[in-house]
Amino acid sequence: SYPAHVAALKPYVPGLPISAVAARSGIAEDRIVKLASNENPLGASPKALAALSNAAIDLSRYPDSDCAALSDAIAEFHDVPSDWIVVGAGSESVLSNLVSTLLQPGRTTAYAQYSFQAFVNAAQKLGASSTVVPSPDFHVDLNRLADSIDPSTALVYIANPGNPTGTVVDPDSLEAFLERVPAHVVVLLDEAYFEFMPADLRGDSVAWVRQHANLVVTRTFSKAYGLAGLRIGYGIAQSGLADVMRRVRSPFTISEAAQIAAIAALGDGEFLERTVAMTNQGRTALTSGLRAKGHRCIESHTNFVLADVGGGAAFAGRLEKHGLIVRPVAAYGLADWVRISIGTQAEIDRFLAVL
Ligand code: PMP
Repeated sequence: SYPAHVAALKPYVPGLPISAVAARSGIAEDRIVKLASNENPLGASPKALAALSNAAIDLSRYPDSDCAALSDAIAEFHDVPSDWIVVGAGSESVLSNLVSTLLQPGRTTAYAQYSFQAFVNAAQKLGASSTVVPSPDFHVDLNRLADSIDPSTALVYIANPGNPTGTVVDPDSLEAFLERVPAHVVVLLDEAYFEFMPADLRGDSVAWVRQHANLVVTRTFSKAYGLAGLRIGYGIAQSGLADVMRRVRSPFTISEAAQIAAIAALGDGEFLERTVAMTNQGRTALTSGLRAKGHRCIESHTNFVLADVGGGAAFAGRLEKHGLIVRPVAAYGLADWVRISIGTQAEIDRFLAVL
């Protein structure tokens, strides 16, 4: 028999792959538009693709388990020491590693309502308790989150911007929040969608890591850099915390291909700019199209929009018959809503035409 907290786990249900929808709908794969996993509709960074096609990867060899060259490149990018960087097979695995260094039965993690399900699962599977702070307006309430910290609290999680809400917390409040958190409590600031935030809403999270030995910031190559399929992300923390995370991490989970592509992607500012510009335009088009049909949308600062369609699963099912994949979010207690990733203009036009 399993421990009760394992038996109670619900599976993480990702957006359906295009191949799965093609198989069950009979629609050709190239006619299917996937707007369900916040991927980059422009594809992968061209510099990453070029680096991969020029690389001579020996598949019989294990990859560099320490990701030394990539850690150096990321450290240089953020102007921090290399031993502050912890690379993972997707930022999800960095979150999960951190969770396993800190949580166990009897310890608590605190986070806002509508927090990223993979984080919640990672904490639950260790048997930790959760304190969930309500977000009645879909924004993280930092004051209530700080007030919720008690002697059992080991970890506080904040995604900024949040998923599935798309909302952000303002940098001054976040800075004040970090000052309030006691030193024995670790703060995980998940910045998977950082690149999509407008400049005036961004805080200097790396500067906060320099000031706070209990802060971990995570970033990913899956979204703006377009490398979701290679599974690669990282955390930034002072060396004490970073060392523990490295000890807990499984060896060899990050392929050589992922490491090579990520180094090249970091240097592809041009692709990043193109992605963000397209996303900004698309978000306006998608949001106003949805609102014109009477659907409430939460103001998003990411590459997706959360919309009230009055029955998310049924809506997603109807769209699937037209070859469109969107993400129901009932697992977040939002049965009426769907999350729609921002595609290219042509993909958004197709979605709005079907709508
Ligand atoms: N954090 C948030 C808030 C996310 O939405 C996601 C992706 N859905 C991740 C982390 C993990 O992304 P990845 O593992 O691909 O880096």
